[in-house]
Amino acid sequence: MIFRPLKYKKFAQKAVDKLQESQSEFRAKYDTDNYASWFYNQSSETLRLYSDDKEIYFRYIPVGTFSLNTNTWMWAWANEDSIEPRKFRTLKIKEFGEKKNYENLSNALIDGDKYTGWESTAIAFDIIGGIGTYRVISDHLEVYFLLTEQITKEQVEKIESELIECSTHGKLRTAFICQHLNTENKTGFEEAFETYRGMELGEDDDLQAWCAECEKERLKDDGWNDESMEFAKIKLVCERCYFEIKESNLDAKKH
Ligand SMILES: [Zn+2]
Ligand SMILES: [Zn+2]
Repeated sequence: MIFRPLKYKKFAQKAVDKLQESQSEFRAKYDTDNYASWFYNQSSETLRLYSDDKEIYFRYIPVGTFSLNTNTWMWAWANEDSIEPRKFRTLKIKEFGEKKNYENLSNALIDGDKYTGWESTAIAFDIIGGIGTYRVISDHLEVYFLLTEQITKEQVEKIESELIECSTHGKLRTAFICQHLNTENKTGFEEAFETYRGMELGEDDDLQAWCAECEKERLKDDGWNDESMEFAKIKLVCERCYFEIKESNLDAKKH
């Protein structure tokens, strides 16, 4: 047991060294130190750096936050206040931590110091990948991002225009469900394709699910037709609603 912290330290240091190297290239390439302000949008998972005469946009995956009040680090997957779908990508770090017995990676909340944020972000960069990292300080919180790609203002606007405003969860990606699905009843949960929280969706892919009864109707004619569509009365929900319904339906199977 005594070797574990040392083993973790070495692992973390390696990740920090690796990030430092690619981060200096990243900063040189995008000149990220020379913007006066930042703004990030959890709904579209985009970061905007800007000055009077220039701006640049990136897509990001939230890594976590470090509280300067409590000196604790919280991984993004554990943060219930944030709405970024891709925060669940950080569960990959948790899984890795569980496998290696690194509690700093598997626990939701860890005690830390001024290095913890960068160290955790370096490990995220190593495990998840990206083109660079960025940190902003908002009130008492340091917020860390993995930047996955540079995007244009038009692309940001397109992402935002396709979001649905959910009264519970805020602005998020749109998902489609049949009228019978909800978190109260176990109705079965059939999907167009296998999904997971925070997944990347192609241009033509939508999150779509329907209940077991709808599946029966659908199979009668070997696929959707006017009749089964009428039975399903597909409606729009936000993607967080979608996964809450999915999980409450899947829970039922365990009992
Ligand atoms: Zn249905
Ligand atoms: Zn919702």
